[in-house]
Amino acid sequence: MKRILVLAAAVTALFANAQGFPGTKPISFVVPFAAGGPTDRVARDLAEAMRKTLPGGNFVVENVNGAGGTIGATKVAKATPDGHTLLLWHIGMASTAGLYRKLQYKPLEDFEYLGMVNDVPMTLIGKPQLPANTYRDFENYIRANSGKLNIAHAGLGSASHLCGLMWQSAVNAKEAMTTIPFGGTAPAMTALIGGQVDLMCDQTTNTTAQIEAGRVKGFAVTTAGRLNNHKLLKDYPSLQEMGLKGFNLTIWHGLYAPKGTPAPVLKQLNDALKLALKDPEFLKKQEGLGAIVVTDKRMEPEGHKAFVTAEIAKLKPVIEAAGKFAD
Ligand code: ASP
Repeated sequence: MKRILVLAAAVTALFANAQGFPGTKPISFVVPFAAGGPTDRVARDLAEAMRKTLPGGNFVVENVNGAGGTIGATKVAKATPDGHTLLLWHIGMASTAGLYRKLQYKPLEDFEYLGMVNDVPMTLIGKPQLPANTYRDFENYIRANSGKLNIAHAGLGSASHLCGLMWQSAVNAKEAMTTIPFGGTAPAMTALIGGQVDLMCDQTTNTTAQIEAGRVKGFAVTTAGRLNNHKLLKDYPSLQEMGLKGFNLTIWHGLYAPKGTPAPVLKQLNDALKLALKDPEFLKKQEGLGAIVVTDKRMEPEGHKAFVTAEIAKLKPVIEAAGKFAD
């Protein structure tokens, strides 16, 4: 109860500082992937929490997919900088910097960085008909069917694409399968459940329920160790445990505004974001989906931007090693 009262007091203080923002115009979370996917899920849950922490904030989610998320990112980079158009994106802000030769925006210059939201583990999953039940069987099956299988992803530079590249490089199966792009891993998941594609690497926010329901097969998690706190995912080995030395991938999500958004508006939005990350309902949902809400310096714009700067540098050689580039 005390936490609710503290939250209410903080929210009132925030509201008192409103200088015309947010006003009546909706605040759009642009999600650069199809509805129903992992990023869309984060955005909708966060919008619900921020409706409480920014009174009058009429948050809506707008899906603008394509080109691995860069079409949606371009839309926000070029939007009016009034605080009413925000980008909720992920590791793609860093991976696409090394992947696309002609981005319509500069990742570190054309956005005002708000805080980060969470870190989401990934799972390697297969279609229900796949004749494998353990990761070892799965890897052997891939090797035995080299050139005959296809792996789904959400476009060049998406988290699923990056994970697929890293995993194929780690198991030396770069040419073993065809990659099939979708507008997001929601449509990709539908294709996997239907058996139209063979495998995918996707975030636990999108895969946990499907694995639990038996609609897809889970084989491993991409974090360094097992997800021992999760009732279902704790039973799946990490890829490191399966011998892929150093494999460690989680998908972070962050919030961005167009360059030039006024500082008082950015502060109001980020204060509301940080309060939302403490919202008991939001936290419970994130935990159930295997996501870990950020609590470190990445909650602050400077920490977020420094982290993305380092991620761009870290991912560049990974992408170059995989030899996949896009115009
Ligand atoms: N996050 C994307 C989505 O929500 C998927 C991806 O990046 O792989 O569809």
